[in-house]
Amino acid sequence: MGIIVNKEELSRITNELRAQGRKIIATNGVFDILHVGHVKFLKESKKLGDVLIAIVDTDKSVKHFKGDKRPINHHDERAEIIAAIGCVDYVALNDEPWPNTLLEIIRPQIYTKGGDYKIEQVHDRTIVERYGGEVKILPRFNGTSTTNVIKKVVETYNGMTEFKDSKGYKAVFLDRDGTIIGDGGYNYKPEELVLIPGAIEALKRLKHAGYLLIVVTSQSGIARGYYTEEDYHKFNSHFLKHTGEFVDDVYYCPHHKEGKPPHNIECNCRKPKTGMIEQAVKKWHINLSASWVVGDKTSDVKLGENAGCNTILVETGKAGNDAAYSVNPTYKAKDLLDAAEHILKNE
Ligand SMILES: [Zn+2]
Repeated sequence: MGIIVNKEELSRITNELRAQGRKIIATNGVFDILHVGHVKFLKESKKLGDVLIAIVDTDKSVKHFKGDKRPINHHDERAEIIAAIGCVDYVALNDEPWPNTLLEIIRPQIYTKGGDYKIEQVHDRTIVERYGGEVKILPRFNGTSTTNVIKKVVETYNGMTEFKDSKGYKAVFLDRDGTIIGDGGYNYKPEELVLIPGAIEALKRLKHAGYLLIVVTSQSGIARGYYTEEDYHKFNSHFLKHTGEFVDDVYYCPHHKEGKPPHNIECNCRKPKTGMIEQAVKKWHINLSASWVVGDKTSDVKLGENAGCNTILVETGKAGNDAAYSVNPTYKAKDLLDAAEHILKNE
């Protein structure tokens, strides 16, 4: 367990260590988002002498050579983490582009650098060598690096690069009432939420095939005064308890032009207008021509046609009998599970 020290303390401590004839090893790095390569590197460094001093670059110092996005963690946190590693005896923060000042104070017998340097690239080498110290480059352990860790996290949790083509991600826009859950007529009581059989299985299969799943739901019951926006959000939380594992986003239209203020407007999100899909496209980078709209009303199919998506009318809920628009869906499905199977067969 190491101790974090300032320059004055470092000077006093290293003077004492030298007087005791102890062999001082110093190393320097960012130590941002630790991985096993860091730990192996520190252990190997410690083996070269008696006392290991880790010089951790401050945020200002790191930005100087790694740009504005790094480091991820603040230097006080990085220093504390490094100090907790068993083989590290002292930790000091370096605020300069190169840790010249600290190396002048420490005067380590051996100064180690990790992996990606060639000895000629170690700028601070001349300082160490001037008083007879030696610079050692230790090989990188199995190609580990913080950059690789970050890449892996981005690809796993956000990038979904395998599912994206040059025009964006494929999505399925799903109507809610009558398509995923039963249409009780202005659903808003959580206890009345009923999942349509097979709906969860359908969401799961589409999600696993790499589709973004985006719910677009008409909630004119808010404008009409049947329930409040707060009621809607409570119901939506309950809905997401069942579906949130698969559903990426939810958009709703609370408007109706014959409703009550402030929702009595001619909005651009009431189906079959495409406002909700446009918002989703901006946020999620969606390729509409590779995407689908699935719903139980002709307004859902019309929405898909207006947005340039493939369309599926499901025979649950209203089953297209609202007859508000004359439409020609890409496919008529028995239910959402049948719709999902059709999508996966016709990608
Ligand atoms: Zn609207």
